[in-house]
Amino acid sequence: MRLTRYYLPLLKETPAEAQIVSHQLMLRAGMIRQQGAGIYAWLPLGFRVLRKIEQIVREEQDRAGAVEMLMPTIQPAELWRESGRYDAYGKEMLRIKDRGDREMLFGPTNEEMITEIFRAGVRSYKELPKLLYHIQWKFRDEIRPRFGVMRGREFLMKDTYSFDIDEAAARRSYNRMFVAYLRTFARMGLTSIPMRAESGPIGGDLSHEFIVLAETGESAVFCDRRLLDLDIPGHDTDFDADLQPLIDRYTGYYAATEEKHDAGEFEKRTSEGDRISARGIEVGHIFFFGRKYSDPMKAVVAGPEGKDIPVEMGSYGIGVSRLVGAIIEAHHDDAGCKWPMAVAPFHVGLINLKQGDAATDAACETAYAALEKAGVEVFYDDTPARPGEKFARMDLIGLPYQLVIGPRGLAAGEVEIKRRADGERLALAPEAAIERIVSEVKAALALR
Ligand code: ATP
Ligand code: MG
Repeated sequence: MRLTRYYLPLLKETPAEAQIVSHQLMLRAGMIRQQGAGIYAWLPLGFRVLRKIEQIVREEQDRAGAVEMLMPTIQPAELWRESGRYDAYGKEMLRIKDRGDREMLFGPTNEEMITEIFRAGVRSYKELPKLLYHIQWKFRDEIRPRFGVMRGREFLMKDTYSFDIDEAAARRSYNRMFVAYLRTFARMGLTSIPMRAESGPIGGDLSHEFIVLAETGESAVFCDRRLLDLDIPGHDTDFDADLQPLIDRYTGYYAATEEKHDAGEFEKRTSEGDRISARGIEVGHIFFFGRKYSDPMKAVVAGPEGKDIPVEMGSYGIGVSRLVGAIIEAHHDDAGCKWPMAVAPFHVGLINLKQGDAATDAACETAYAALEKAGVEVFYDDTPARPGEKFARMDLIGLPYQLVIGPRGLAAGEVEIKRRADGERLALAPEAAIERIVSEVKAALALR
């Protein structure tokens, strides 16, 4: 992509309304633009990151055995009357009337709708388990939308729903999602900690929030430091095998959000040096809630003896748009974002130090074409701006590599690579630099 064709409205000043660094950087780097309280347009650069996060979420859901579909954003109120939640949900729900005066709503979540869809199509216990998910915009009329996309009113969520014949089977579905979540967040460069959590308005008893530690996080959390060093399950994990031992390794260490925190137990189970009491960002939440919806909505299957049995359900959310902010909170410096390769809007920023200089332009075009051909995503600053401005701009948007090409270097047979993560610079011949970038990008993207 060439910057001269792109839409990248950078801001010089830090907007006063943005309190936390991810919100500031997303506005300054031209990733989002606010359209109302807690409502954002995703500009081209931000949208690329959002799409990459969404794709990782999708791949890991598929790997774990969940099946993708898409439900609408607008739902009929009737459905929510069946579960009893239409009146209970309160002011967070955006209620709408259509031209025929029918009551509708913009979905804050989809338990009712998926239950309706399930009961229409599944008859026998033999068709279980089922894990269905979609990635769709939600609307919650939050009292205090803030911190940019971290607590929006309109936000993108991945929500999965599980249907099982009994509690033991439901636990297996839960475990699949538990492992999928560990992998999902790790692939984005985040260390997430599953913590025992309250199940909230959706109900139930088996519940974990996946928390990324950050000073700006909204949740107070308590956990054992050793959780930060556990290995992430590999891409070759067999999701049909018994995942319980793997789950036990994680849940064997103390980790709880404020609502579930027990100071006495925390002291008993951790040594002083391992005790973390910190703040964190909730990036995902999994819970089992049994027959909460299947009972009132009569989502039943014929059991082995032919009798109708209400299914045991769980739901599993990931804050896809919130993750964009959470990743910046974890990866930035004073100059801007430092994207992990897997979610970077582009892999490499190509900086032409003297646009209009024939040799420099030619070397940039050659590098641009060679990198693109090798599958590397290049963002080419082909504007006539001064070098200082180009460097600052590229640091702000935070692509993992910068390839800097100018007349002086070329005269000496060299171009420069800068790695954004640690600022390390390397001068190489142009072909060697291209080879180097291609192999490092491939290595960083390799699935583990
Ligand atoms: P919170 O306690 O932060 O309000 P929640 O418990 O209401 O979250 P869930 O219903 O579990 O959230 O939604 C699943 C995921 O969606 C959350 O883990 C979070 O990552 C994300 N999420 C929830 N509310 C918002 C929001 N207002 N803006 C952005 N992401 C959100
Ligand atoms: Mg909420």
